[in-house]
Amino acid sequence: MRYSNFFLPTTKETPAEAEVISHQLLLRAGCIRKLTSGLYTYLPLGLMALQKVAAIVREEMNRAGAQELLMPMVQPADLWQESGRWQQYGHELLRFKDRHGRDYCLGPTHEEVITDIARRELHSYRQLPVNLYQVQTKFRDEIRPRFGLMRGREFVMKDAYSFDCDDAGASKSYEIMKEAYHRIFKRCGLRFRAVEADTGSIGGSYSHEFMVLAETGEDTLVICNDCEYAANVEKAAVVLPDDDTAHAEPVPLARVETPGVKKVERVADFLGVTPQDIIKTMVYLVDGEPVAALVRGDRQVQEVKLKNALGATEVEPLADDQVWKLTKLPVGYMGPVQVSIRVVADQEVMRMRNAVAGANEKGMHLTGVNPGHDFTPDVVGDLRQITIEDQCPACGGSLSLTEGIEVGHIFKLGTKYSQAMEATFQDADGQEKPFVMGCYGIGVSRVVAAAIEQNHDEHGIIFPLPLAPFQVIILNLGLKDEKITKAAEELYMALQEQGVEVLFDDRDERPGSKFKDADLIGIPFRVTVGKTYAKDGQVELRNRATGETELIPFNEAVATISAMIRDGLAQAG
Ligand code: ATP
Ligand code: MG
Repeated sequence: MRYSNFFLPTTKETPAEAEVISHQLLLRAGCIRKLTSGLYTYLPLGLMALQKVAAIVREEMNRAGAQELLMPMVQPADLWQESGRWQQYGHELLRFKDRHGRDYCLGPTHEEVITDIARRELHSYRQLPVNLYQVQTKFRDEIRPRFGLMRGREFVMKDAYSFDCDDAGASKSYEIMKEAYHRIFKRCGLRFRAVEADTGSIGGSYSHEFMVLAETGEDTLVICNDCEYAANVEKAAVVLPDDDTAHAEPVPLARVETPGVKKVERVADFLGVTPQDIIKTMVYLVDGEPVAALVRGDRQVQEVKLKNALGATEVEPLADDQVWKLTKLPVGYMGPVQVSIRVVADQEVMRMRNAVAGANEKGMHLTGVNPGHDFTPDVVGDLRQITIEDQCPACGGSLSLTEGIEVGHIFKLGTKYSQAMEATFQDADGQEKPFVMGCYGIGVSRVVAAAIEQNHDEHGIIFPLPLAPFQVIILNLGLKDEKITKAAEELYMALQEQGVEVLFDDRDERPGSKFKDADLIGIPFRVTVGKTYAKDGQVELRNRATGETELIPFNEAVATISAMIRDGLAQAG
């Protein structure tokens, strides 16, 4: 591709709307443009990177025995009513009516549609197992679309669905996908980790997330220092040490004045206790109802765990003014004793003795609060976020935390959808049985963003070679010099003949801005044809990732560069 003909609008300024680096660089490098909140156009360079990811995904899915199909993006409501998710899915599902008044939604995922295909077309165990996938645009009306391609409303996903006769078969399909995912992300040239995950609204019994390790990740991962355990903190179970309940003699409940003293630390100081002695009461809106969630004063509520403990669909923290409006309870002085709303307590709270809690009255707290005696929560569960002071739930070892970006998610669905939608086949024993299913997603567009979060510097993107829109950029720095221009053109043609993907910067621009653009768009190898060529027949070869440069003889350039690219791609797997 000749740069002079290429639609590549780069910019110098960092766009104010972009918070994270991948979003900033995708905009600056002319890869994407925003249409409106969470909706982006992929410009040619961005689309090329997206297609690179999609190509790797397709190759590995096909290699793993899956077959590509393409389902409609618009889905009829009745399928979602059959599965129960028309009610359950919440506001991420964009619903609308057609001209006949029939209900539809834009597909955020395709379990219902694929299960409908299976129940129509797969009748016998002889046809199983089957794994079908598509690469398609999804729509989710995300509550907070942000970070560019990382969390869009419209985004490109690869979603696959497996159908098996029994659990053993489904486990095998799951393992095959897990291996394929390892190959996919390795081939993308990314540093990643597979972790145990929450199963979310897709449901099912077992799941792993594939996380690209990057500081800006929206997800926090907990990793055991001693064994293989790795999990999303949304999932990581807190295991309390053997009952360490302080068997202190219960003291009677007492009301104490704490005027203007609200935050846990301040209440602790004021009353001469520690945050560990305080029951922290947080109010959440759970499927439209206010609920009080209790954790120890030094702990954080983990919202996904809260959602699961309550079997809820949507959980949102309530703003202070909303708390007052909905519950007439005084923020900062709330507690579980005789409170008017539903109470859900973290398991650890139930071990607290003679604790401090709000008195549900402005400026007042209670001391001597004993859970189980002074109040009984409606639900008790594992609600709090795991910390590095906790023990590994698998081996009891020590834990570390790290940030990650979820790029893939695999689930064992069991018979959740096949049962709800009566999708059955005839097994070898003549019985009609529901399919045992699995589903497997990859955020194809999010992979592009994650790759940049993990691979960039102050000058721009550093595309991993397998995802780079072009493998090589040639800079012609002698546009007015016939000899240099001829050599640069020749190199451009010869590399392309070798199958190398080349962007040829033939623009009439200052060298400085050519170098800057080349760095910004992150092409792995840069070849400069300029003065050194005119002088002694050499071109400069630079590696974008390492910054290393070397001069190589012009007539060896094609062989050297094609070999480097072959080696680089082979290394990624
Ligand atoms: P998240 O927790 O990030 O919302 P999810 O659990 O809702 O993800 P899945 O339903 O498992 O995601 O979707 C499969 C994959 O699609 C995810 O692993 C992720 O890579 C990608 N994905 C999900 N939501 C978005 C989004 N809003 N924008 C871009 N990619 C997304
Ligand atoms: Mg989501």
